[in-house]
Amino acid sequence: MPRPFRRPAPLELGGAELRDLVSACMDRLAPWLDGLAEEPAHSLDGSHKVARAFDEPMPERGVPFRRVLARLFDRAIPISLNTASPGYLAYIPGGGLPSTALADLIADVTNRYTGLWMPAPGLVQLEISVIRWFCSLAGYGPSSGGWLCSGGSIANLAAVVAAREAKLGEDPGGAVLYTSEGAHHSIAKAARVAGLPRRATRIVPASGSFQLRPDELEKAVAEDRAAGNRPFMVVAQAGSTPVGAVDDLAALSDVCADLGLWLHVDAAYGGFFLLTERGRAALAGIERADSITLDPHKGLFLPYGTGCLIVKDLSTLRATFAETAAYLPPSQEDEDHWNFADLGLELSRPARGLRIWLPLWLHGAAAFREALDEKLDLARSAATRVRALPGVRIVAEPELSLFAFRVEPPDMGAAELDAFNRRVLARVNQKKRLMLTGTTLRDPALGEEVFVIRVCVLCFRTHADRIDMLIEDLSEAIADPRG
Ligand SMILES: *Cc1c(COP(=O)(O)O)cnc(C)c1O
Repeated sequence: MPRPFRRPAPLELGGAELRDLVSACMDRLAPWLDGLAEEPAHSLDGSHKVARAFDEPMPERGVPFRRVLARLFDRAIPISLNTASPGYLAYIPGGGLPSTALADLIADVTNRYTGLWMPAPGLVQLEISVIRWFCSLAGYGPSSGGWLCSGGSIANLAAVVAAREAKLGEDPGGAVLYTSEGAHHSIAKAARVAGLPRRATRIVPASGSFQLRPDELEKAVAEDRAAGNRPFMVVAQAGSTPVGAVDDLAALSDVCADLGLWLHVDAAYGGFFLLTERGRAALAGIERADSITLDPHKGLFLPYGTGCLIVKDLSTLRATFAETAAYLPPSQEDEDHWNFADLGLELSRPARGLRIWLPLWLHGAAAFREALDEKLDLARSAATRVRALPGVRIVAEPELSLFAFRVEPPDMGAAELDAFNRRVLARVNQKKRLMLTGTTLRDPALGEEVFVIRVCVLCFRTHADRIDMLIEDLSEAIADPRG
């Protein structure tokens, strides 16, 4: 006998049920969001314990949702680096714009297909409009284009593959890619994944302000050509990850044009400062690059999961990535109707454009510009105040919103200094109002490898009060060098 119909299968949530579940989420999210500024910037005590608590098989039957939420909000989420916190000045902060979650909810529930243009022309078009806006920020012309992906690493990978195809064709033998010491490790990874041996990535010496030196680049290319190698690509920085260095993009464009090399600008951290006047000045010349990596989950404050590649000439991506298949609709002939699958690595993909389009329509571009301008101001004032503390030397000035420094009390030897700076970093972080990170780099002033402390202001929630805390906590941390 058939069972009488009661409710649809448990996977088929109705509108009212979904609304209740979203509302239950909001019961946890709203207080979390409102208390965020008071929460510690990091909290990793009990990491292993919490991980063990989630090391378990999946349940056969569903569990009441409030219990599921309690496990997330009481256990998993608190034990972490608080990457949404205004005190998070570590690595490259993102932020996690809550309005993006609305876009994700809509995109996920409606589940439209945006790998090709035909199945969702409106959603694909709004994504194209977002990309065109990015292209115009970079100063690119009408033949430019690009796509959104999961992050900067994937964008860098696609750029290396497109450059290899454009400059070397099918045979990558003897390929050489040039970049500087501060390049993100995703560049070396991209080169390897693109089928190049490790020796194909060549580090060109940088100036005292960590900029790739155009004269050294010319010299290296000449040497490699004389040795029978095939230079094909330069990866420049528009905000390097270690110290925020911005290469002289105009000068590198000249060299690349002269030598017939592909210029890629890794602007994953710095790119969206193009919205500001100071950012445009710092990144002058970027419009001449063949390709640019942007990371909306950094400079547009999005939650993790959105990177972007734009290219000066969209046909270079088509030439690299387009394939056909008998089981798919034919490729669009129309130049204006992009099939993202023809331009990059992915076929099925989330409707990523909505994650950027919706916040822009909700808040307006000015809100982002003003927030980025504020970050530039905060980093500059922080650097000025940090510089004034006893024994501090700024090793990398804030070209954008990131700077690096070292505390050097008199009468301390080199080895001792590194250990002391690591202690200072630990003391600041111990207060948990802030999270900073450090890195080792070749110090141009000393000519040796040193440990430096970094400050990167990029979260939209970070304001002047956090810089006051930085100065307070840092002053205390350096007060007793021998302690
Ligand atoms: C963050 C970053 C990357 C990598 O981007 P993901 O989004 O983490 O994959 C690449 N280059 C630079 C300069 C970055 O700051």
